[in-house]
Amino acid sequence: MACIECSKTTEPTTVNVTMWRDKQLVVVENVAAYVCHECEEQFYDEQTGAKILDLANKGFPKDKMVREISVPVYSIDEDLGKTTDEIPKGG
Ligand SMILES: [Zn+2]
Repeated sequence: MACIECSKTTEPTTVNVTMWRDKQLVVVENVAAYVCHECEEQFYDEQTGAKILDLANKGFPKDKMVREISVPVYSIDEDLGKTTDEIPKGG
């Protein structure tokens, strides 16, 4: 399959798709995808795309959930993301 962005050759592989559902980060793992060697664009065939969309439309139902992981969160702004409680007090 040719890349939809640059028309170069793509390689079939599996990827983890991450997306935000309200304030919850959702991961769909082992998704069959094509990844472009040239621009690293990744995309899915129609059937796979439909399955992901179906999960999203159903609001990622809990009974379909495989497992839960915790995700490290970082901020490159030192002050942002901290509440006053988390800033160590001097002394
Ligand atoms: Zn490409």
